[in-house]
Amino acid sequence: VITVTTSVSFSAAHDYRREEWSDDKNRAVFGLCANPEGHGHNYRVLVTVSGPVDLETGMVINFDQLHPLLISCVTAELDHVYLNRQIPFFASRIPTLENVALYLWQRLSPEIAALGVTLTRIRVYEHDDLFVDYDGFLGETAAA
Ligand SMILES: [Zn+2]
Repeated sequence: VITVTTSVSFSAAHDYRREEWSDDKNRAVFGLCANPEGHGHNYRVLVTVSGPVDLETGMVINFDQLHPLLISCVTAELDHVYLNRQIPFFASRIPTLENVALYLWQRLSPEIAALGVTLTRIRVYEHDDLFVDYDGFLGETAAA
């Protein structure tokens, strides 16, 4: 299997809080991220797809098809938004890095399938030294 990976970025705000918890419990579990005024990150999303190499083009997918899709589904929708407040997926889920990866998988998987390739992995960076990988299997039921 050959995989192809490209990346896009977005900057967004979020906070980690459970409204049914006390302020003390939110601070104990989520630390500074529980600040209800929020904070921001510059996220980097690596999207990996796989498929057969086309005999005519020599490509799994044309970058000119994949990259605009990521700009429209990731950057255009998430850049400079407050994830908790503006993205319905996060109305009931804390926008942790893990849940951002689950969201992106749900958002991108059908769009990428429509291009004739398979979404294989989503990697989301919150910092250079912190990222999550999602392969579409673990936690899928939790995302439903
Ligand atoms: Zn954060």
